[in-house]
Amino acid sequence: MEKIKVGVLGATGSVGQRFIQLLENHPFFTVSHLAASERSAGQSYGEVMKSKWKISSDIPDYAKGIMISLPKPADTMGVSLVFSGLDSSIAGEVETEYANAGVIVISNSKNHRMVPNVPLLSAEVNADHLEVLKSQSTSGKIITNSNCTIMGVTISLKPLFDKFGLESVMLFSMQAISGAGYPGVPTMDILGNVVPYISGEEDKAEEEPQKCLGTVENGKIKHADFKISAHCNRVPVFDGHTVCVSAKFKKKPSKNDILAAWKEFAGEPQKMKLPLAPEQTIVYREENDRPQPRLDLETGRGMSTVVGRLREDSILDWKWVVLSHNTIRGAAGAALLNAELLYQKGLIPKG
Ligand code: NAP
Repeated sequence: MEKIKVGVLGATGSVGQRFIQLLENHPFFTVSHLAASERSAGQSYGEVMKSKWKISSDIPDYAKGIMISLPKPADTMGVSLVFSGLDSSIAGEVETEYANAGVIVISNSKNHRMVPNVPLLSAEVNADHLEVLKSQSTSGKIITNSNCTIMGVTISLKPLFDKFGLESVMLFSMQAISGAGYPGVPTMDILGNVVPYISGEEDKAEEEPQKCLGTVENGKIKHADFKISAHCNRVPVFDGHTVCVSAKFKKKPSKNDILAAWKEFAGEPQKMKLPLAPEQTIVYREENDRPQPRLDLETGRGMSTVVGRLREDSILDWKWVVLSHNTIRGAAGAALLNAELLYQKGLIPKG
């Protein structure tokens, strides 16, 4: 089977590196275009990444010799799709240029997330939102991932929202430093410390889940009708966002109802057996002190959402803890799963 040529924009960053790692030997896609800023452009990926590669496995050989260019659609060498891990200061404009040039863009940035006809796609949660692509006017299409903190939260809410309805959600995040990109938060600010503020994060956490759980109406996504209050904190953990969630439901479920809903939850990625789909989307840990980033982050190759500590909430109905890998399930892995979904649905034109 001929593979589809793809590119990675922002290939040198935290998210970009994950793309490079996850795309090694991918059965559907082959990487032929890498782009980053003028700090990296004109040099080979291997050369630039000697000092910037922060993942425990080696830089894949396939990527080392690829020359990095500036993110310009004219230099794409016939790619049909690009994954974008660009800094948000530039992502909006550049992603639109690629879409105008007929390239499908799968973005991790915030810029296009809240546009009503851009899916905020989480493959198990809202594959039906791909319907709105028909109403995008560009020849290429833009699809976004949700924010990394709420990715796991939304996955844990989806089967409960469908069965019991939601009225309100409170969440408290403990977010890893890799979520701030590289070099990110200065060591002297975060070592042995907690920073109770992450710019823009609470706004995203309070509006993105409603879009993810919304419905398609007249070519646009109508947001689900429930309220969220979020507190977002940066903690000295390298990878993995942990979120404490409390929720009030329209119809209060029992503990067993919730556990069964999580256990049974599967979406199109599992039905289609997509390469990166975790076997179990939501994994519940029975132990009192789990999930923990150090112990549970690699569950399902970093693609499962790990949930624990389900107990009654004295103000709302139920509370629990969610852990998800911010650069895998919260970014590059989720984006690649979205691309696999598009591929299997025949939505990627061959370049
Ligand atoms: P990062 O480590 O700072 O990487 C940013 C990338 O953008 C680098 O490749 C950088 O290239 C490139 N870039 C910066 N300015 C540019 C310019 N003017 N022209 C072209 N390229 C430019 O950031 P990150 O953490 O990977 O995040 C990337 C995006 O994903 C952000 O929008 C972020 O909000 C989002 N996101 C991040 C996470 C996470 O856990 N880190 C999770 C979900 C979403 P150089 O190396 O050449 O400077």
